[in-house]
Amino acid sequence: MPKITIVGGGLAGSEVALQLADKGIEVDLLEMRPAVKTEAHKTSYLAELVCTNSLKSTRIENASGLLKNELRMLGCRLLEVADKSKVPAGHALAVDRELFASNVTRAVQEHKLIKLINEEKKDLEFSECCVIAAGPLTSPALSKSIQDHFEKENLFFYDAISISINIDSADTGSMFRASRYDKGEADYFNIPFTKEEYYHLVEFLISAPKTKKHNFESACYFEACLPVEVAAERGVETLSYGIMKPRGLVNPLTGVEPYAVIQLRQETRKGEMYGLVGFQSRLTRKSQSELLGIIPGLKDAEILRWASIHRNTYLDSPRLLDERQMSKLKGGLFFAGQIVGVEGYVESIAHGLLTSRNVLDYLKGEKSIIFPEETILGAIQRYLVNAEIRFQPINANFGLLPRVKGNKRERKNRKVQIAIDSMNAFLSKG
Ligand SMILES: Cc1cc2nc3c(=O)[nH]c(=O)nc-3n(C[C@H](O)[C@H](O)[C@H](O)COP(=O)(O)OP(=O)(O)OC[C@H]3O[C@@H](n4cnc5c(N)ncnc54)[C@H](O)[C@@H]3O)c2cc1C
Repeated sequence: MPKITIVGGGLAGSEVALQLADKGIEVDLLEMRPAVKTEAHKTSYLAELVCTNSLKSTRIENASGLLKNELRMLGCRLLEVADKSKVPAGHALAVDRELFASNVTRAVQEHKLIKLINEEKKDLEFSECCVIAAGPLTSPALSKSIQDHFEKENLFFYDAISISINIDSADTGSMFRASRYDKGEADYFNIPFTKEEYYHLVEFLISAPKTKKHNFESACYFEACLPVEVAAERGVETLSYGIMKPRGLVNPLTGVEPYAVIQLRQETRKGEMYGLVGFQSRLTRKSQSELLGIIPGLKDAEILRWASIHRNTYLDSPRLLDERQMSKLKGGLFFAGQIVGVEGYVESIAHGLLTSRNVLDYLKGEKSIIFPEETILGAIQRYLVNAEIRFQPINANFGLLPRVKGNKRERKNRKVQIAIDSMNAFLSKG
């Protein structure tokens, strides 16, 4: 087997390196720190957690807990280290940051088949197989090479995530299904607003508390992903002429266009996850919950993904990468971790684990494994390939899984059980 080059010794890159080396593959792991720094990392350790020390819930009734459960079934190396570095945190898996990162670094350094090279990779040259796991803060030189490789503006530098809800938890009675000017299928749920409701919403968006930006995030927003509250501040009618414009959306209940409209767009093929079009935002989570309280029909809606806007580097994976997250333009060039559009520590580790399997299958000339769609891993794999329109990074959430019937608690319990059964059945087949 050829030697593999991995670029980036973060969460994904370290997991790929350890997994491949455990399978007897020689690895060169390139990490640019400490010589070249990022805006967020503070140490020279691999797998540094740049913000919270929590890897979220351990409970399987939580999507992140379920994902961790699946990862444990597959022998995830970084979760083993996390367990050895944990600090008390109730139902969350929280770690002593420094202990965790130093333990990962030691595991990598002590592995006979891994050579850790402290060097910045600036180009995409490699011999047989290379994994780019350079993360949300990929160095500018490498970002430029990635952009040149794909010859398009398909490397994004900001997340602009809208709120996503579980449509089954919304009261859709006052909404109507339509596409603008009846073009195409009636795919959207449209929430009509009266003038009073609309003005109240605008006032709320302007006054509600927002999250703070990091220093390195003070750069301007792209117009296409302007936070909804920034648009609202530009003038009271900005939204009604912009993302909330009612033109071409006649409410069948009244026979006229409403004063303003929020559109809900389906985000996964089978799931119940719907996004509020254009509602990317820096509102705090509390404010986002309050915001739903003043949107007709969404008072009790379950939020599956919170809106956020922050610095990130990620690829338009569904269009640029294949089902293994290998470049469609160059065999052997894999991408792993947050750069493919997964969001979060555990998701990045998970994608590192998936990548190690994909690389092995690629080297053996075998088809890559796609996990069942009922598992969180399988759902994330599918999202990275199938997500449509403007691709936005994804975290583990139940809205990605195929729909089931029942009330909120029953749905969740059923999804968890189906996910566990599916993974067990899948693994028992070898
Ligand atoms: C400011 C900030 C706060 C965050 N807070 C959270 C949080 O609280 N919870 C959460 O779950 N997620 C959080 N995230 C997301 C989190 O960073 C990622 O989920 C996770 O670390 C990504 O893993 P990764 O392996 O893809 O990238 P990283 O862990 O960032 O690893 C990438 C590595 O590649 C190296 N590198 C970059 N370019 C090169 C190059 N050219 N050559 C060699 N090495 C290179 C970097 O130094 C780094 O070590 C945050 C992200 C940021 C930017």
